[in-house]
Amino acid sequence: MARLYDTAKSTLALRQRKRFLLSQLKILPDSLRASLVERFSRCGKTNCHCHHGGDKHGPFYYLTQCLAVGKVNKFLFKATAQQQAARTGIDHYRQLQEQLEELSQINAELLRRQENLGHD
Ligand SMILES: [Zn+2]
Repeated sequence: MARLYDTAKSTLALRQRKRFLLSQLKILPDSLRASLVERFSRCGKTNCHCHHGGDKHGPFYYLTQCLAVGKVNKFLFKATAQQQAARTGIDHYRQLQEQLEELSQINAELLRRQENLGHD
């Protein structure tokens, strides 16, 4: 679900907010639509402590990317640098998505007011 932005403003204020958003929009080269998940797991050795009430192994970090229903890309990221790069890229993608969502909600409200959406 999308976050709801405040569009109960004057048309002038919405246009100013829109101009600001457009000035901020930037696609960063590391943008990444994915999640970085932390997992602990049991190994294949049945005599290992992890099978006998001991701590599981980990944490392991996986990048997961949902491509379609039932189709998920999953990569194990062992290197700390990979994990950090993933976190940053995911954050950049999320910021871009939020800015686009706010722009979209403003545009819907402007259209409802029968305003022009083009350049002003
Ligand atoms: Zn084990």
